[in-house]
Amino acid sequence: MRRRYVVALIKHETNTFSPIATPLASFGHGEGPAFGDAARAAFEGTATPMAAYLDLARAQNAEVVTPVAAESWPSNKASRATFEALVRPLEDAVRAGCDAVLLDLHGAMVIEDCDDAEGEIVQRLRRIAPDLPIAVTLDYHTNLSGTLVDHATVITGYRTYPHVDMYEAGMRTGRILAGALDGTVLPVMAWGWRPLIASVMRHAPEDGPSGDILAFARRMEADGTVLAATLLPSFPHADTPHTGVSAIVVADARRGGREDAHAVCAHMLDVAWERRAEYVFRAPPLAASVARAKALGLASPGAPVLLIDHCDNCGSGGAQDVMAVVAEILRQQLDDVAIAPIRDPQAVAVMVGAGVGQHVRLSLGGRTDMPAIGLKGTPLEVEGRVQAITDGTFTIEGPMYTGIRTHLGRTAVLDTGRVEIVVTERPHEPFDLGVFTHAGIDPRTKRYVMLKSRIHYRAGFGPIASHIVECAGAGVTNADLSVYPYRKLPRPIFPLDPM
Ligand SMILES: [Zn+2]
Repeated sequence: MRRRYVVALIKHETNTFSPIATPLASFGHGEGPAFGDAARAAFEGTATPMAAYLDLARAQNAEVVTPVAAESWPSNKASRATFEALVRPLEDAVRAGCDAVLLDLHGAMVIEDCDDAEGEIVQRLRRIAPDLPIAVTLDYHTNLSGTLVDHATVITGYRTYPHVDMYEAGMRTGRILAGALDGTVLPVMAWGWRPLIASVMRHAPEDGPSGDILAFARRMEADGTVLAATLLPSFPHADTPHTGVSAIVVADARRGGREDAHAVCAHMLDVAWERRAEYVFRAPPLAASVARAKALGLASPGAPVLLIDHCDNCGSGGAQDVMAVVAEILRQQLDDVAIAPIRDPQAVAVMVGAGVGQHVRLSLGGRTDMPAIGLKGTPLEVEGRVQAITDGTFTIEGPMYTGIRTHLGRTAVLDTGRVEIVVTERPHEPFDLGVFTHAGIDPRTKRYVMLKSRIHYRAGFGPIASHIVECAGAGVTNADLSVYPYRKLPRPIFPLDPM
């Protein structure tokens, strides 16, 4: 009998302090959510778990149904109606009958009336089909809940940041589930949580304790102790009762794996807890960081110095229009700078209206107030020449999200003389050189490149940089976790409380 798989993607990293709304149209990399065959077409051949599931099904000659593929840039909570529009097609597909469900979820999705969207999705499928094998691949920035674990069969996640292993993670999840269907493994899961929120600026394997924990997890997989061991260093900008560092381990119950899974999981979390101080990020003052970057650029021409504007990253819910770091770059008169991207549809409209080659004066950015953290939007007065106008569409070359077609909306480049600024209508975290090259700028030839990003920029821009300087501006992805008015977070929790 040919197997029938339901394969679906519903992803949102919800920053509950973000000023950005999450309408249904925001899902789908700029083109809205995709349903049915369009869902498959949008993700087939891409570096994503969904694509891995599709490849696995093809190799098994299984029938595949793809009810929905929907992924939004991080922002605030979606409405119940938006969530239902994404989940109901998935429920219908499961109700129609299948041998397994393979889900590509985030792990930090919050909706207006539910703090645990992924838990709700899997629980609803479990009600429809009590014995159905359900596999879930999660983002690294997951706040894991017991509800999700209770109702899933296999859960694994990414183990890189930037997330360049999304496809491999999906393939690992899918293969374990296929083994369960074949009867060659009997998956059993152990998970745990610690009262610890880790600054995202300290999540990368090379920056904090995560690297050693991930290396231990790999050893436990390689020697056959467990099938998959996943560290989930949390998404601290979602205020929920289950926010915090967690781990989940899958082992084979037929080989006595239950105890091994618990032991491996406990060791991973013990290391995270013992080294919790290393998950705290402390940023120098902005002016000092920009001055340091300026000096580095003057001392080492030939490859750009990256200035990382990490407090306003749309890849974690930022407005992408806070101008603090740009203003400081202009004030200190850095020369030969490329900046991307500032999201400001009104400024784009002014530049498009003027046309390429024309001189314009603009109030740039600062359109967005951030009441959750008491920050008022402040535009920056700039003037210069409109250097380019594009439709903002390009295909990502990778290594992250390779093959995805992305849409910045209409895009215009302002050249102030010292600085070239890419201004877009839609959000986009710069992790691929295409954000510049599609608009005719080669970032490799610049002395300085400023990016609104936290860690993902390293995927495309790490290899071209001479130096990297993190610049603390302002916004809802601030690494200083004390700026957020948490209400639902379990307390006490490190580092907000003495522990
Ligand atoms: Zn992530």
